[in-house]
Amino acid sequence: MTPRTTSGIVLAIAAHAESDKLVTFYSPDTGLVTGIAKGAKRSKHRFVNKLEVFTLLTILYRPSRSSGLLFLSEAELDNAFLSLRKDYSRYTTAMFVAELVLRFTREHDPDPGIFTLLHWALHSLDIGIQPLRVAALFQVRLLDLVGYQPQLDRCGLCRRGLTPKLIYGLDPASGSLVCSRCRRERINGSRLMLSVQTIRFLQQARQLDLHLLGRLQMPARGATETVNVLTTYCRHLLQQDIHSRRFLPPARTG
Ligand SMILES: [Zn+2]
Repeated sequence: MTPRTTSGIVLAIAAHAESDKLVTFYSPDTGLVTGIAKGAKRSKHRFVNKLEVFTLLTILYRPSRSSGLLFLSEAELDNAFLSLRKDYSRYTTAMFVAELVLRFTREHDPDPGIFTLLHWALHSLDIGIQPLRVAALFQVRLLDLVGYQPQLDRCGLCRRGLTPKLIYGLDPASGSLVCSRCRRERINGSRLMLSVQTIRFLQQARQLDLHLLGRLQMPARGATETVNVLTTYCRHLLQQDIHSRRFLPPARTG
């Protein structure tokens, strides 16, 4: 088959046989895919220092005739996002972002919007936007893209719009808000609680152009609330744990 070129962000690497590597990446053209880089452990020229997690590459590959696996011929490093490798919080947040993409997307089902959002998250971490804020904003945008956007404009039980004096929880089963008038005992102090201020930030985060998203000054408390609530929601949707959640940084004030 004729070789093809695509951009890709590496999400996972595994050793394979004696000298090969399996590289899982997300590309706007192929979606989530895994490619085999033959001789990657030996090659000084074609792959060295390029096949690392969280690198943006231009990849030359051949599709396989018989399986979903690609054969990687060469890779050019476009961005190593170096500063996120030197900072624990940034790195663990990149792990969280990568895990969500791995869990929520299917192989060979490309969505250029997911690639762009993933690139935004790594770039934002690289330039020093507060990691927990990046995690929160990424999560709410990804849920929209994969079709699981929570309903954030009203209580799903009494149907009343947001009221500043109330607190809200997200019901993972329905993906809707529940107000404290309807279910006070289950919301108060739980990991499903969202303040009206945080909900307003999330509504803005959904609307903004991606290049403006990093400027949204979501407070640390709002980012913590968002990650707690949306991760619980994601666990419910996926029926499995999000392992990298436990390595995320605690919120800093400011
Ligand atoms: Zn209600």
